[in-house]
Amino acid sequence: KSFSVAIDGPAGAGKSTVARQVAERLGLTYVDTGAMYRAITWKVLREQVDPSDELAVTRLAQRTKIDIQPTDIWVDGVRVTEEIRSPEVTAHVSAVARIPGVREALVEKQRAIAQTTGVVMDGRDIGTYVLPDADVKVFLTASIEERARRRYLEMMRRGFTADLEELKEAIQRRDEADTTREHAPLRKADDAVEIDTTSHSINDVVERILELCRT
Ligand code: C5P
Repeated sequence: KSFSVAIDGPAGAGKSTVARQVAERLGLTYVDTGAMYRAITWKVLREQVDPSDELAVTRLAQRTKIDIQPTDIWVDGVRVTEEIRSPEVTAHVSAVARIPGVREALVEKQRAIAQTTGVVMDGRDIGTYVLPDADVKVFLTASIEERARRRYLEMMRRGFTADLEELKEAIQRRDEADTTREHAPLRKADDAVEIDTTSHSINDVVERILELCRT
């Protein structure tokens, strides 16, 4: 079995930044599972499928080819790296991600990747559901103010305009949807180590996780 690190937590807790660096340091493959749900959502919006039509969205997920590279995401051969971070995709992704058929299709892909290579996988249900036997499990958190602030800075960097208060509400709505859905909701695994990143640098958090990987 390949070595695997599961990193879960709510939106904006710093998962992707931290996971990417841990993967680099350990020579493992970084897998951003949120990007996969975003990729399906991007296609749902583009094909004007009703996000609440579970059957239609499930079928779409089953026939979509997603290729997640460390730096680029492709959907059916189209590069969507930036588009999947748009406010529109972000607003609809939790509705798409709550559909069991969508999750089944994507979890199958995620497990297949972890079968073939060592991974640092970030998401909401990695430690609880996708890789229950992961070697290291981490649950990252941060205060809502800090998470909103980080998202705000990230949006600015990506060239989107944003309102801090609106972002905060959008994050809270997404967390609420992710924690209350029926199938594999956002939850800390019993054996995950919780790390509050509010007042810690990325570097501190990365070092802490590397330490967990060594023991
Ligand atoms: O991590 P990111 O914020 O990009 O995730 C986008 C959305 O994808 C989450 O809000 C959640 O609805 C969904 N997601 C999920 N399970 C995962 C990863 C993401 O349901 N493992």
